[in-house]
Amino acid sequence: RPSGRSGLLAALDDDQARAAAMVDTALAVVAGPGSGKTRMLTHRIAHLVAECGVAAASCLAITFTRRATEELRARLALLLPGEAAAVAVHSFHSLGLSILRAHGAALGLDPGFRIADEAERKAALATALGLGDTRAARLVRAVSVLKRTGAGGEPEEMQALATLDRLGREQGWLDFDDLVALPVKLLEEHAGIAALWRARFAHILADEFQDVDEQQYRLLRLIAGPAGRLCVIGDPNQAIYGFRGADATCFERFARDFPAAPTVRLARNYRSSGTIVTAASQLVGMAPDGITRPMDEPIVLHAAVSEQAEADFVARTIEEILGGHDLLEAGKGKHRGRGGQASLEHASLDQASLGFADFAVLYRTDMQAAALRDAFDRAGIPYRKSSPARLADHAGVEAILHLLAEQGGEAEGPDLPARIAATAQAARSREEAGPAVAEARAWLASLAASAAVAGDEARLREQVALSTEADFYDPRADRVLLATMHAAKGLEFPVVFVVGMEEGLMPFSWGPAEESGEAGAEERRLFYVAMTRARDRLFLTRAADRFWRGARRALPASPFLRDIGAELTVVRAAPPARRRPQQFSLF
Ligand code: ATP
Ligand code: MG
Repeated sequence: RPSGRSGLLAALDDDQARAAAMVDTALAVVAGPGSGKTRMLTHRIAHLVAECGVAAASCLAITFTRRATEELRARLALLLPGEAAAVAVHSFHSLGLSILRAHGAALGLDPGFRIADEAERKAALATALGLGDTRAARLVRAVSVLKRTGAGGEPEEMQALATLDRLGREQGWLDFDDLVALPVKLLEEHAGIAALWRARFAHILADEFQDVDEQQYRLLRLIAGPAGRLCVIGDPNQAIYGFRGADATCFERFARDFPAAPTVRLARNYRSSGTIVTAASQLVGMAPDGITRPMDEPIVLHAAVSEQAEADFVARTIEEILGGHDLLEAGKGKHRGRGGQASLEHASLDQASLGFADFAVLYRTDMQAAALRDAFDRAGIPYRKSSPARLADHAGVEAILHLLAEQGGEAEGPDLPARIAATAQAARSREEAGPAVAEARAWLASLAASAAVAGDEARLREQVALSTEADFYDPRADRVLLATMHAAKGLEFPVVFVVGMEEGLMPFSWGPAEESGEAGAEERRLFYVAMTRARDRLFLTRAADRFWRGARRALPASPFLRDIGAELTVVRAAPPARRRPQQFSLF
């Protein structure tokens, strides 16, 4: 690559470097998966601090999850040794929490406010309005969307919103969505406080911008100010949170609000093989430009008889790849890809260097994880399950925190990590929820060890309220990742399995009314996100028959599969079962 660049920008291509170097303006960076958007973001910050004399503490990077903030911090630490810790890296909710902790009094907030989880809000609403469980749950979710969008709703929903706000004020709690909505109100109503936050952050960078909702966007704009150096980074084709109130038109909105801001497009895909880039672009009907890697292995399609057989296929294929076998043996000869016959000589995947952590299995709904867990347990494959479920709503977490609260006030007692361990032990012996408690204990221990908590139980609760299960994905642990497609956003793996490629699951259908239109388009983008997590190998599997909505059903193949050219794929049968040392028989 011809480039006269030196320093931090030398690690970027021309377009990435151009974006990273435009430091005196608001800026939009719009580009596809794997084009180095997040890489540009971290290098832009490092360039600002190390090469433009900007104070690290006046840079604010915003992403969506705690896991993503940790990944950004880790990447920054490599680029900016010594200074990275001073960069403000936040999720929208942790930023909002900081603002409310500092200036919430201006809104009349109780300084000791806590964050109520969904179960608590649902119970409070059900009691206050005399509602059944299902109705209360639906209303709590509707209120959440109203708060994210700042829009009005049905009279019943508005009544639920007012009731929850009143209960929160009386009982000293906020809900998760208030952490963004209230700072917006605060900064809109108090120009002096807004000016303080504007002065604090000279440069604001927002990753995954395609998924911001109305209130999050307003918060960004308020902190940036009308002439602010706000850099928004994202990919409209990866917008997957419309169902939660995210606004896919946010880039157009940004262009209207910051008319002087240039848009930089990154044109090269560094992550995925040519085959994967081509297939993904076929799915969304775009030209496959920006390919930098060869068209090597075809995408493997597999149809299993049941969800159990599908999970076994995944487990055996992982064993096979890790065992160094030529996994395409069965498919060879059938494949007539553009890059010629598939062969391991051209493969860029170095099988010998792979570990379990190089594999991810992605599915549409969390329920699909059960069959996979069983198959992995049987095969002895270590895995880690990650979902966007809130930590606070997890039964094991609730059990431990409940017990911890009962023993509260023991200021003289042992430190927080030790108390969590002891409480988890007690919770385990009380409940049947053994595995759930074990999982919860690990999460709480990791939170307790973090600087944000520092031994304080109230801070622990706060971090629990801010965290999702997906946040605890540790890329250093050598385990296969089992995750929903939503939770896999931003990640990459050498080998990816997307399971459950059936109509009804992918696209997911809630009912006949939602089968087409915006919901269907969002499902397509979700599959696009899932496919584009793969660097080298992609497997798309389905079950001819599965337990689904209360009965065994035969679901047809996902219509999305028809959009991927046959020349890019190969159909593969199940690898032979590994011979077990012992065979048990019930007869
Ligand atoms: P997504 O939309 O999925 O979040 P992204 O655009 O943020 O993707 P990154 O995660 O930043 O993409 O980059 C994808 C991969 O490509 C990473 O492994 C990254 O290190 C690599 N990469 C990006 N740019 C370059 C480059 N200029 N040279 C070498 N590798 C690069
Ligand atoms: Mg990214």
